[in-house]
Amino acid sequence: MTTTEIRETAQSTQVEHFDVLIVGAGISGVGGAYHLTQQCPDRSFVVLEALESFGGTWQMHRYPGIRSDSDLYTFGYRFKPWTGPPIATAQEILDYMGEVVEENDLAQHIRYNHRITTARWSSDDNLWTVEATDGDGETQRFTANFLWMCQGYYRHSEGYTPEWEGMDDFHGEIVHPQTWPEDLDYAGKKVVVIGSGATAATLVPAIAGDCEHVTVLQRSPTYFIPGRNVNDLADTLREIEIDEEWVHEIVRRKLLYDQSIFTQRSFDEPEKVKSELLGGVRAYLGDDFYIETHFTPTYRPWRQRIAFVPDGDIFEGIKSGKASMVTDEIDRFTGAGILLKSGEELEADIIVTATGFNMSVLGDIDVVIDDKPLVFSDTVNYRGMMFTGIPNMLWIFGYFRASWTLRADLLADFVCRLLQHMDEKGVSRVDVALRPEDKDMELLPWIDSENFNPGYLMRALELLPKRGAKREWQHTQDYWREKDEIPAIDLDGPEFVYR
Ligand SMILES: Cc1cc2nc3c(=O)[nH]c(=O)nc-3n(C[C@H](O)[C@H](O)[C@H](O)COP(=O)(O)OP(=O)(O)OC[C@H]3O[C@@H](n4cnc5c(N)ncnc54)[C@H](O)[C@@H]3O)c2cc1C
Repeated sequence: MTTTEIRETAQSTQVEHFDVLIVGAGISGVGGAYHLTQQCPDRSFVVLEALESFGGTWQMHRYPGIRSDSDLYTFGYRFKPWTGPPIATAQEILDYMGEVVEENDLAQHIRYNHRITTARWSSDDNLWTVEATDGDGETQRFTANFLWMCQGYYRHSEGYTPEWEGMDDFHGEIVHPQTWPEDLDYAGKKVVVIGSGATAATLVPAIAGDCEHVTVLQRSPTYFIPGRNVNDLADTLREIEIDEEWVHEIVRRKLLYDQSIFTQRSFDEPEKVKSELLGGVRAYLGDDFYIETHFTPTYRPWRQRIAFVPDGDIFEGIKSGKASMVTDEIDRFTGAGILLKSGEELEADIIVTATGFNMSVLGDIDVVIDDKPLVFSDTVNYRGMMFTGIPNMLWIFGYFRASWTLRADLLADFVCRLLQHMDEKGVSRVDVALRPEDKDMELLPWIDSENFNPGYLMRALELLPKRGAKREWQHTQDYWREKDEIPAIDLDGPEFVYR
């Protein structure tokens, strides 16, 4: 079926049919829509998005200073040149995505204010039936041959805030960056930010100038890479009037080359890389005691994402005295602030819990396969994109050590190739299944915590699909191998079962 059809169910409720249904209009979903129009122009598709506009992460997060922590030459799409500074604000990313939507006439395919609640697969007709609640609270029904999950990885409605004793006693305001109140007045206030990841590094410089003081309270230190928010190579190429398409491609390749070397070195010579990273911070702060206490992590570089700090702005805040770091543990909240395990008390008018996300692995959608509720954690993942026991579905989970969108683009090519292959074979269903040689393969948790272990992933491990001992059954987080491996996947290999 290549055109949109209206089907009538037994109850005579209208059901719209599309060849492909994309969940979510974040950077992955909008990218998916683009690739479908280019690579599968005859296929009908719809993008259902819970929010009132596109952007996902960049639409949701409204805290002061919100910006990317990786460069936009690689976080941007392969097909749309990035022309701004490498680290971009949420608004700049939204503007860029807006151009992609407009230039490619994608708006006609996107239904906003459609929150998907259930997706049911039926093997009788090889179709997904999807229910979504629209802006009026009405249930809208769709059928689709293929479900393309671009729902992101965390719950958008609320962030993760641990339970601390005494939180109710605190007289001030407790705020999570994910649900930052638009009218929050922090001018002249004492603010404590709990957590020192990328969010804190972004937020603190943005508010420190207006606050009386900002204290960053961390349990343990994080790695940062300070640097100028410019790309010299891009500037040089522009100076000699190279086309933006070329600038984009050349700068992407150079950045990815440099990142591959850096990533490899962080495995081969972690101590050397660590000392280089600390040297970067020392160049701003100078003080060895401060660096040893607050900026020297105990884990190996790259076990967690490393935040790029444009122009070292958080360190400038610390140097100016408007911000400071405390490395300690919370004993409990008090009326006036936070009592630490060391006995010190931090006074606060506002406490910001930059403590991360709650994973939401399938967009909080109830997935049912042939009348049985899906237990996602019982499935085995195929290259972190398809799952045993879930037909006609692909899931986008990007990279952590490289920009997310690199994988969204790669997997979009894969979906289009797979759909075309199914057409050529005249089949309407594809499953992935363990091969005879995988029969005795050990099944492990989704990710190796020795390799990568951010808190939100560790908290959600039991919700996530299994990983096999072989690369095909893992999300390897290795862009540099996947960029060659994924386009070369043999779609007639024994792991693909067609019907
Ligand atoms: C503050 C912040 C900064 C980040 N910075 C970077 C960075 O610099 N580089 C990088 O590589 N990564 C970064 N990330 C990770 C980032 O989330 C991804 O890179 C990327 O934006 C994810 O895009 P996405 O489209 O896959 O998911 P999202 O941006 O999460 O979008 C998913 C969309 O799906 C919709 N959706 C979900 N469930 C449903 C449902 N049931 N029904 C309908 N719609 C649904 C959501 O409303 C949302 O619009 C950052 C994350 C955060 C939170």
